[in-house]
Amino acid sequence: MTSVLTEQDKLLMIQIEEALENCEFKAFYQPQYDSVTGRLVSAEALARWIKSDGKLVPPNDFIPVAEKTNLILKIDWYILNEVCKFIRKRREQKHRCVPIAVNFSRKHVAEADFKQRLCDTVDSYGIPRNFIEVELTESALMNDSEAIIGFVSQIRDEGFNVAIDDFGSGLSSLSLVKDISANVLKIDRSLLSGNCENEKERIVLESIFTFAHRLKLTTIAEGVETVEQLGFLRTCDCRLIQGFLFAKPMPEDEFGVACSQRVKDDYDEDILKTQAPASATNLLIEAVFTKFPLVIMSNITRNSYYMMTYENFSATSCPSTGTFDELIMHGAESMHPDDRETFRNAFSISNLMNAYKNGEKFVRVVTRQCGDDGIYRKVETTDFFVKNPSVDDVLVITLCQNIE
Ligand code: C2E
Ligand code: MG
Ligand code: MG
Repeated sequence: MTSVLTEQDKLLMIQIEEALENCEFKAFYQPQYDSVTGRLVSAEALARWIKSDGKLVPPNDFIPVAEKTNLILKIDWYILNEVCKFIRKRREQKHRCVPIAVNFSRKHVAEADFKQRLCDTVDSYGIPRNFIEVELTESALMNDSEAIIGFVSQIRDEGFNVAIDDFGSGLSSLSLVKDISANVLKIDRSLLSGNCENEKERIVLESIFTFAHRLKLTTIAEGVETVEQLGFLRTCDCRLIQGFLFAKPMPEDEFGVACSQRVKDDYDEDILKTQAPASATNLLIEAVFTKFPLVIMSNITRNSYYMMTYENFSATSCPSTGTFDELIMHGAESMHPDDRETFRNAFSISNLMNAYKNGEKFVRVVTRQCGDDGIYRKVETTDFFVKNPSVDDVLVITLCQNIE
């Protein structure tokens, strides 16, 4: 113990110990969404203390004392077990699972058996290690930098993801981030003040994202609360969004439902609706060349299409331009026989027109599709309606991606 404990701290410490014994701590889950597609792709587990009378205690009321008394070590291992149990249950029930980030206090850096215990715990539940992300707060980096570099690389070598949490809230140097083999950078919400309207703040954020992407770090913005913030983050090509705009931390059952729904219901799917036109162009180019193996632009009023890119799809036998009807016929042929009708119906011009008139933002279908290599893959095809105020025609961008 390094800090002096007040009488109040000592009382709380005893209560936390009892709460641990009585399993009063629960993991809540806050989803993380892909900023372009709106898909729920991962989540963060956050500790909640639910007292026997049902009262919910937020972490800020017990983490500081837990940190002072080293009880945080027990809480973190407890939450990891809760998360592993949840993932195991989902897998056993054949429900969709996503990787979950678990917060680990900087105090774990001094635990000699941390890596072994992490591996043993996760392996004992029979879940793949890449389903667990170790979140280390930025302030942990201010400890002995050599120790932390070694600590992180050992965890990465064992197949876990590692995120630097709260980046930008403290004083960690950019050069240390470069030396640490973490693969995820979580941008602290303090950098997202207001609606990202301040020019200087925008420059700082843009530079952080550029630097992070050049270092091949996955970026997550924390504490996103407004559509304006979301718009700006998309222009920075921030990969993942975590914040009250989309979802608050929620109990396990509720998260299970959100996980199966995959896409946020009220998500604004107009992928070109971003703040700056230049960034919208970058976003589109990025989508075309790196994110989606198959992209098609169509004008369904004129029954025409143009195929922009393809990989691992049986697209080579399909002309890169032609009539939209033919495109759907070609597409259906490459599919598993049981999926052909669903596909043809969903993407018939009449169905798309109806969906558009009913105010839908997109039509999405998952099918099994045979690639040029003869292998069937689960493919998600989404037709986004793109509203162009200067034409009456109904334009569609089709994005296809292999899933799971
Ligand atoms: P964190 O790891 O940075 O977690 C994000 C915090 O931001 C969470 O607060 C979350 O509810 C909050 N948040 C998310 N989106 C928004 C938003 O849009 N607006 C606002 N105002 N807040 C948002 P929470 O759950 O109260 O956790 C606070 C901190 O407590 C965490 O910050 C983390 O440092 C710590 N903590 C929570 N659970 C654990 C745990 O199991 N172990 C350890 N070591 N620390 C934990
Ligand atoms: Mg965190
Ligand atoms: Mg954070």
